[in-house]
Amino acid sequence: MKARCLRLSGFKSFVEPVELPIEDGLTGIVGPNGCGKSNLLDALCWVMGEASFRNMRAKSMEDVIFSGTALRPAYNHAEATLVIDNAEHRAREPWRDADSIEVTRRIERDGGSSYSINGKPALAREARVLFADMIGGAHSPFLVHQGRIAQLISAAPKERRVLLDQAAGIGGLRARRHEAELQLKAAGTNLERLNESLEELQNRLDTLKRQERQAKRYRSLAQRIRVTEGLLLHAGWQAARQEQEAQEQSLAQAEEALQHAAREAARASTALQEADEEFQQLREAEAAGAAGLQRIKTEQERLDARERQLRERKEGLETRLAQTGRDLEHEAARLQDFQATRERLTTER
Ligand code: ATP
Repeated sequence: MKARCLRLSGFKSFVEPVELPIEDGLTGIVGPNGCGKSNLLDALCWVMGEASFRNMRAKSMEDVIFSGTALRPAYNHAEATLVIDNAEHRAREPWRDADSIEVTRRIERDGGSSYSINGKPALAREARVLFADMIGGAHSPFLVHQGRIAQLISAAPKERRVLLDQAAGIGGLRARRHEAELQLKAAGTNLERLNESLEELQNRLDTLKRQERQAKRYRSLAQRIRVTEGLLLHAGWQAARQEQEAQEQSLAQAEEALQHAAREAARASTALQEADEEFQQLREAEAAGAAGLQRIKTEQERLDARERQLRERKEGLETRLAQTGRDLEHEAARLQDFQATRERLTTER
């Protein structure tokens, strides 16, 4: 594996984006204690899939994110990219044709890690297998940390065998075998689960068959109920229709009666108006009659007075007539006397 470049951003003490080119030959990093040299190796291991935060010299994986200083606030994410030279196209599919492979690991505070290979999202497992195939990876024997040699000398044969496998380039195969074993185990578990599911499905099939029979019976009964309900509804509808017709007839009669009553009311109103007018005329006639009566009374009183006058005058005239009668009798007596006198005188003469 030829690493060509390491790019960091927000990773530990590398706040600003920084690019570390790795040229052919030897690349050395020189600096005072605590300047961040070991952080670069940490970044290499981290981008190649290191899963232990202790190996990152941190208390949690999020500690690899720049934690801030007195002058700069903390970051919320860190990113490391390792560019691998694949000019000889030794990488396995699907990256065999690419001239270079860029593996990026990114971590968000409270969001966990994510990987991408040549710009496409990838699984951590895919990145680890890619590096294992190229004799790389976070635990590659070519990454020699401080105290690693002494550790190897005192290592158990099993641990040393892992190292030898990795050095021989079959670490990737081991990783794949492990992966395949895991998949086989998962497939076995799945098969067991499938058998259990099959058994369960058989039970469910029996239940479903029973339910199907019940459903068929239910459907036939429901059909009969529907037909009966339909007949009932039809009968109800007919009754309602007859009732409606009867009500409509009643309504027509009531409307006719109402019209008749309205006509009667109009007639009564006209009659009332006429009666009113007649009453008015009668009142006027009564007023006129009262006035006439008053006049007649006045005339009667006048006539009574006149009668009294005439009676008095009649009595006066009767008195005078009696007087005149008496005078006439007296004059007649005198006339007789005169005539007797005249005859005597005539006789005498
Ligand atoms: P030594 O020579 O002692 O090994 P070094 O040069 O390798 O030191 P490192 O140990 O890589 O230095 O870096 C340590 C520095 O990185 C310290 O100054 C520490 O404050 C800084 N550092 C580590 N983690 C973070 C972080 N999450 N945020 C900010 N700074 C960090």
